Amino acid sequence: MPIDAAQAYKLVRGLSGLNYYPSDDDAVGLLLKAMQAASSVEAGEAFVDHWTLTLRNRDCPKPGDILDYFQPPKSSGEFLGSPQSTGCSLCGGSGWIIVERKGVEGAKKCTCIAA
Ligand SMILES: [Zn+2]
Repeated sequence: MPIDAAQAYKLVRGLSGLNYYPSDDDAVGLLLKAMQAASSVEAGEAFVDHWTLTLRNRDCPKPGDILDYFQPPKSSGEFLGSPQSTGCSLCGGSGWIIVERKGVEGAKKCTCIAA
């Protein structure tokens, strides 16, 4: 069940200590929308943990960063990535690896597309 706006807002507020947290309501609204892509509050919390603790980001994520986490680009065979996007033994060419964290499924960028 998707999370509601109030829950998403609470999660987004959890990012407010980071650099470049938007002061603009519209920008916060976009973060909120992106956060609602989380499948559950736990998944949202896992993202915040992942972003701040695992990746040690000092900067607030952009809505696209949040969406990439919850809705990684599908492997369609037409992935417009690098030429190495086919045949990777880790991700099968999708560029994303499914990881389980606290029982919640997420995805992380494979080393073959990570800059
Ligand atoms: Zn890969």
